[in-house]
Amino acid sequence: MSNHYPEAQTVIATLQTIPLAVMTLDIHGIVCSVNPALSLLTGYALDEVVERPVSRLAFNMADQSFDDILQATLLSGETWRGEWVWRKRNGDPISVQQTVASVKSREGENILILVTLQDTEHSTVEGSPPPAQRQRQGIPAVDAQSDFERFFNLIPDLACIVSTDGYFKKVNPAWESTLGYTQEEVLGIPMLDFIHPDDLEQTVYEAKRQGPEYRTRHFINRYRCKDGSYRVLNWTSTFNRDDSTRFGVAQDITERRQWEASLRQSEDALLRAKDVAEKANQSKSEFLANMSHEIRTPMNGLIGLTDLALDTELTLEQRGYLDGARSAAESLLRILNDILDFSKIEAGKLEFETIEFDLRQTIEALLKVLGIRAATKNLELACDLGPDVPSRVLGDPGRLQQILINLMGNAIKLTESGEVLIAVEPLSRTGQAVELHFSVKDTGIGIPMAKRQHVFTAFGQADGSSTRTFGGTGLGLTISSQLVQLMGGRIWLESEEGVGSTFHFTARLGIAPARPEAESPLDTGLLKGQSVLVVDDNATNRRILHRILTSYGMETTPAGSGVAALQALGRAAETGKPIALAVIDIQMPGMDGFALTQRIRANPQFRETKIALLASGVHRSDADRCRELGVSTYLVKPVGEIEILDAIGRMSHVAARIVRPDLQPRRRVEQGVTGLSFLVVDDNPVNRLVAQRMIENRHHTVTTATNGLEALEMLENGDFDCILMDVQMPVMDGFEATAAIRNRERGNGRHLPIVAMTAHAMSGDRERCLLAGMDGYLTKPINAVDVFATIDSVLEARKTRTPDAKESEI
Ligand code: ADP
Repeated sequence: MSNHYPEAQTVIATLQTIPLAVMTLDIHGIVCSVNPALSLLTGYALDEVVERPVSRLAFNMADQSFDDILQATLLSGETWRGEWVWRKRNGDPISVQQTVASVKSREGENILILVTLQDTEHSTVEGSPPPAQRQRQGIPAVDAQSDFERFFNLIPDLACIVSTDGYFKKVNPAWESTLGYTQEEVLGIPMLDFIHPDDLEQTVYEAKRQGPEYRTRHFINRYRCKDGSYRVLNWTSTFNRDDSTRFGVAQDITERRQWEASLRQSEDALLRAKDVAEKANQSKSEFLANMSHEIRTPMNGLIGLTDLALDTELTLEQRGYLDGARSAAESLLRILNDILDFSKIEAGKLEFETIEFDLRQTIEALLKVLGIRAATKNLELACDLGPDVPSRVLGDPGRLQQILINLMGNAIKLTESGEVLIAVEPLSRTGQAVELHFSVKDTGIGIPMAKRQHVFTAFGQADGSSTRTFGGTGLGLTISSQLVQLMGGRIWLESEEGVGSTFHFTARLGIAPARPEAESPLDTGLLKGQSVLVVDDNATNRRILHRILTSYGMETTPAGSGVAALQALGRAAETGKPIALAVIDIQMPGMDGFALTQRIRANPQFRETKIALLASGVHRSDADRCRELGVSTYLVKPVGEIEILDAIGRMSHVAARIVRPDLQPRRRVEQGVTGLSFLVVDDNPVNRLVAQRMIENRHHTVTTATNGLEALEMLENGDFDCILMDVQMPVMDGFEATAAIRNRERGNGRHLPIVAMTAHAMSGDRERCLLAGMDGYLTKPINAVDVFATIDSVLEARKTRTPDAKESEI
């Protein structure tokens, strides 16, 4: 050591214990000592610098060298304070806050120079003033070393310093709280011994990766705890600057990992459950489709044979029984169709068509059918179609009718007295589309609040007992609400127990492009100015008739009773403008329609007034009464717009162009061609018999075959005009037989019409049959009207397709 002053030795010895980085120099600038804090800061060990000139360790700053500062300090005796940059052992510069002071002997001789260094980059603790400021304020400098210690000991994550020999040099208290080891225990065990055997390879690989980009590494491994269990640690580690040690910080992610694993498990379980549910749903839909197919086949026999039996001579009693059987079979078929529709909706197989149809006619046709049901219960069934509701629209009339039949059917079923009113009004309208609001209002039993949503769910009924009282499957509203949704509308209900319910739904329909000839089927201009008396005790009916008639320019006088009607007629006659027409409801309390008619007829003042009577349901005696009273216009409620206009037109002799709508859409073809020769192919003997008798009853001849192969043999030996072909048959099915027939025809240019009969009613079946070369398609159970309508259209199409076909081929 180059300094031999005893005072200097004392100072040097004291410095070894203090945490501030200090070095001592002799007066020539040769290093006498460095304390451990300085070694830690700069990386230099004592023996690496001692007796070397200090100027090799410090950079020159601006135009000053470190030697200049030493000289100035020695000369002035004052302490130098300021920033300086030192060279660390690994060559990196380190900026420090530095003091340089001379230590004098008692005699005042310079014997030693003290240099203190404080890292300006790392020693500032948050919230404490920077070094320069500290000096000005006289605050003692913060010790970098103890800061690091404090931080190291404080953090909840595991922190460690590992030496290159694979042992830990230092670990923080988190090791004990997380893994259970004290620092002493950890330092005695090689690092790799802590690591789970399965994670060793990966950890060693991570440790060996070379290159600057890998100086900081991230990896995960499992560490053994003192109790033998393992914790999952997420590591970040980096080398110190001279690569002599490695710092590591690890987060314990054991719980997070477990949570993630259980999340993955539950996701997997969820996906599996979804899969199972979807498969179950699919097989349920398939089951329903198959079940419907299986039930349809015997139903075909049941309905067909009952029809055939009803066509024979029967006693009244027998006819009653068979009528009952027929209607039971029909309601069974309705339930079957509901279930099938439901399964189609669930399987996403329900299809909609978009065709042009007359909304008014469609609804009025429904009213006629349902009116009979309403009349048997003495209910008023009324329809209020606003004048702004377009007639020619585009959509699926069948599906719309299905919804309305369900809502109106329920309303009639669940109303004991009063009325059922269907109303339609437009909500919005553009050039191409209209959004309509339909409502079906009744005065029935109502639905309790708690059950209102329930009724829209499958098999949901408001009251379990209503099933027993009123029957039903609880599927109707489910299907209706699904249909409404599929048509882009919404369905909802209002109800008050004991007062009644109103079911609402909206539907968006296209507006059919205007066709000049279809614009106005009614020449209603001539009805303008007609005076009409509307007599009905039911206010809804009066209101609707009034609205219809006034919208065509007629002048109406409403009357709620026979007495009021006579008064109105009298008043009009007195003013010299007698009422021309009276539309009178028959069923009224007090003076009924017949009695009122009688009074009118008896009064010469009202001689000119023509009368139309409105009946609820057809009663045998009504016709006689009408004849007696000289009334020729007798309408059965509910009376639609077209019907009432037609009637008034005829009574006023202005019916030049009023067209009665064809309310019977199915074409009956009994009077069609006779004497054709049919081949009926079906493996089920009852179904064969039904088809055979049905066709024979229309005066055709029938040959039967039990499968496709037998049919082909028959065709070898005979000539037929048409084949009715079952699809599912043993030996050879309908598809195969059709293919064979079409194959044979290829040589001779003939085309024998083949109509498929199948119990499959799912979408796509029709297309499959037509693709297989068949010409028409019938769904079992078959009925005479459908059979002959289909046969007729197939034969018609055949004629137009091959104009040169021989008559015998038809
Ligand atoms: P279903 O009539 O075959 O039972 P729906 O789905 O058509 O099935 O109706 C479900 C239930 O909703 C009915 O059973 C009845 O309880 C209730 N409901 C439907 N319409 C009405 C109504 N107009 N008035 C009172 N309750 C009704």
